[in-house]
Amino acid sequence: MQKQETFIPLSVPNFAGNEKAYVSDAVVSEWVSTGGSKVADFEAAIAAYTGMPRAVACNSGTSGLHLALMAAGVGPGQEVLAPTLTFIAAVNPIRYVGAEPVFIGCDDTLCMDPAAVREFLQTRCEKRGDKTYNRASGARVSALLVVHVFGAMANLPAFLELARQWNLALIEDATEALGTRYTAGPFAGRMAGTVGDVGVYSFNGNKIITTGAGGMLVSNHPDWAEHAKHLSTQAKADELQFLHDEIGYNYRMTNLQAALGLAQLEQLEGFIAHKHARWQQYKDALDGKNGYRILNFCEDGVRPNKWFYSLYLEDARRSRDEIIAALKEHRIQTRPVWALIHEQADYGKNEAYALEKAQDYRARIVNLPCSTNLSEGDCQRVIDTLLAL
Ligand SMILES: *Cc1c(COP(=O)(O)O)cnc(C)c1O
Repeated sequence: MQKQETFIPLSVPNFAGNEKAYVSDAVVSEWVSTGGSKVADFEAAIAAYTGMPRAVACNSGTSGLHLALMAAGVGPGQEVLAPTLTFIAAVNPIRYVGAEPVFIGCDDTLCMDPAAVREFLQTRCEKRGDKTYNRASGARVSALLVVHVFGAMANLPAFLELARQWNLALIEDATEALGTRYTAGPFAGRMAGTVGDVGVYSFNGNKIITTGAGGMLVSNHPDWAEHAKHLSTQAKADELQFLHDEIGYNYRMTNLQAALGLAQLEQLEGFIAHKHARWQQYKDALDGKNGYRILNFCEDGVRPNKWFYSLYLEDARRSRDEIIAALKEHRIQTRPVWALIHEQADYGKNEAYALEKAQDYRARIVNLPCSTNLSEGDCQRVIDTLLAL
């Protein structure tokens, strides 16, 4: 009988640090819910790491994005320019606030293309007073929602300029990009998520650090961060009398989640170094072989977190789905990039613009195993399997 190959997952958590100790502290102290000191500690730790004055913990990246849109004042009847090549949780919160996304394609960072956004604004929109309107729909366009896909950095200098010129809020979905930062240029030292008006991180199980589920919001407007905190905690205006001054949400993070997050954050820079090492291993072995390319999708002057690796099938003998199936036979888990959002059931009627590159990347990318505990040997097994196809 042939020996069963060990399973190599796409992306799993890595709890080699103080996770058990800190979670145990929380359990022993009996502070397991939304009270307890670790939530504030984790907020302070993320604020310090990202260089922001304050961070607001919440129970998922999705709820963080909902809070971000509410804090930005995006509301019913408005439109938000958003990428079509991303995870659907980036876009659904636009609907939660009663607004509609307009979908824009990507550039070679895999993130929304600022040139396409500029062209859309110039040719399809107009400014009346200080507000921007979509001429076809008549709706006010009130925000740009950029996603730092796979830990790359969207072109923030360009988006910031467009946001200022057209008076749009700039919302950063940095759920995949904790740790990605500029090393040169006008924003040297600044992290993904901290350049626009408001940014959101996720600690879902597959992200670079995890709290099981969780999120964090940061903002360059202290009042937006406070408003987000208020909305996430049932909009309680008076603690004792239970007075609530608007419709709030239970979007709070628990002390248990924060305990996990504190232990994970201690290891983040090590995780990023590991992600870079395995990416380089894939790149050295696969780039230019069998019609494969390992995408870089990060420009000079950016230190990406390399959260997800993308094998691009430039001229490969097998199709994307054949490669995914063949790897599965060898117990190696991979996946295609997301189906484009403008083609999803509930977004088919939304306007969509400049889609060619997004369609090409959707058709040709296979995401390779990228866990922070992926060993050199397992990485080599993925490489050997791909080269034998
Ligand atoms: C993971 C993710 C989210 C949502 O984060 P959750 O914590 O899973 O709710 C949103 N946008 C993108 C691009 C993501 O990858």
